[in-house]
Amino acid sequence: MRDLESPADTWDRLRGVMQGQIGKDSYKNWIDPLVFLGSENGVAQFAAPTSFVGTWVSRNYGEAIRQLLVKDGIPASRLSFSVQAPEAPAVAAEVPPVAAAAGEEAPQAAESDLPTSPLDTRFTFENFVVGKPNELAHAAARRVAEGGQVTFNPLFLYGGVGLGKTHLMHAIAHEVRRTRCDARVLYLSAEQFMYRFVVALRQKDMQGFKEIFRSVDMLMVDDVQFISGKESTQSEFFHTFNALIDQQKQIVISADRAPGEIEGLEERIKSRLQWGLVVDLHPTDYELRLGILQSKAEAQMLQNPGVTVGPGVLEFLAHRISSNVRVLEGALTRLFAFASLVGREINLDMAQECLADILRASERKVTIDEIIRKVADHYTLRISDLMSARRARAVARPRQVAMYLAKTLTTRSLPDIGRRFGGRDHTTVIHAIRKIEELKVSDAQIAEDVELLRRMLEA
Ligand code: ADP
Ligand code: MG
Repeated sequence: MRDLESPADTWDRLRGVMQGQIGKDSYKNWIDPLVFLGSENGVAQFAAPTSFVGTWVSRNYGEAIRQLLVKDGIPASRLSFSVQAPEAPAVAAEVPPVAAAAGEEAPQAAESDLPTSPLDTRFTFENFVVGKPNELAHAAARRVAEGGQVTFNPLFLYGGVGLGKTHLMHAIAHEVRRTRCDARVLYLSAEQFMYRFVVALRQKDMQGFKEIFRSVDMLMVDDVQFISGKESTQSEFFHTFNALIDQQKQIVISADRAPGEIEGLEERIKSRLQWGLVVDLHPTDYELRLGILQSKAEAQMLQNPGVTVGPGVLEFLAHRISSNVRVLEGALTRLFAFASLVGREINLDMAQECLADILRASERKVTIDEIIRKVADHYTLRISDLMSARRARAVARPRQVAMYLAKTLTTRSLPDIGRRFGGRDHTTVIHAIRKIEELKVSDAQIAEDVELLRRMLEA
């Protein structure tokens, strides 16, 4: 019976499965815009609105789609994507996901009665590219934005500079304002919070200050590490925080590190912060960087008609530029500015020349901490095991691998490495390095482990 089905109907029937697998947004961004044209000689043919969408889908979801088709009895030994602009311009405007709000609009004016910091209109969920390193943070932010029952309170987002904390917080604020216009959302930096507090103190208007902060439905405080060491601000923050939690109002906090690691933060605040959900944004990996670059390049191309990006350029940047997304964005902006001035294609040579400083600055530096973490992960040991005095082979060997990697991937000295591994002597480190060098030749498993770890650490 299915023989009579048109490819469009088949696809309608099948593609819903993808939504369950990849989530609503990815589905909407990538799968929804595809048109299934049928299968010919085992090649399943799709039309995508842009070549970027086609490439992205093929790279990220190709295998899943292929299996879906094969399971349904449709021959698909591979997929092919052609570009076919959608007919209705309204659809074109929705795809790609980044383009819509991109631009240099001024930040939105603050709501009149709340001392909200300005929100960047570009920092929306649609413009946020999701990958392994940030999927948990993204999912949690989404959940909070959906509202309903307050499930984790506070939501504590942390991670290094430029990994998207502020972006996610603004996205939550935009989303809540869009879907629940009556909700009072207050977003501000911890610095702003302190400033308001100090002004209120000076003007002897603590009552007003308290009322404003305790009347909101959602409070978001960005970069909370800023109030470390500022005792009276912390104390006020703590009371505001408790008052809101008691009223079941949602709180979202960000910081550059985990609550427990913020020095100069009172213990009671640290522990209260850990009551909710603490999620970290990991440094970006290659795939995520490439995804972000593709999405931002597409937005740039709309703004700079005529500028094209040559093969391999985005891959090169994703490979060579550090995990900080802000740096990545800066590099791309510079390339587009340059290319549109001199009317050239962005190619590898030009990228290398134009970004020499950025490339030099972001030469990958592996840290001993990362090595320890990755090695512990790899062998499913605790970090404390690697640091411990235990000499059982199951612990000692991974420890030696870690020391070997520390020597070969960093510039740290032997005594330094010894110190970082639970205060060991440098001769222990030398012994470890010799041992692993030997084993790399005689023991295929160790050789493979070392190689895998090295690649992960240098990625
Ligand atoms: P943080 O607050 O963690 O320092 P930001 O949220 O300010 O970082 O992000 C820095 C820049 O990188 C912003 O322009 C932001 O839009 C962008 N960015 C970060 N992560 C992503 C992502 N996953 N997708 C798209 N843009 C991102
Ligand atoms: Mg920030």
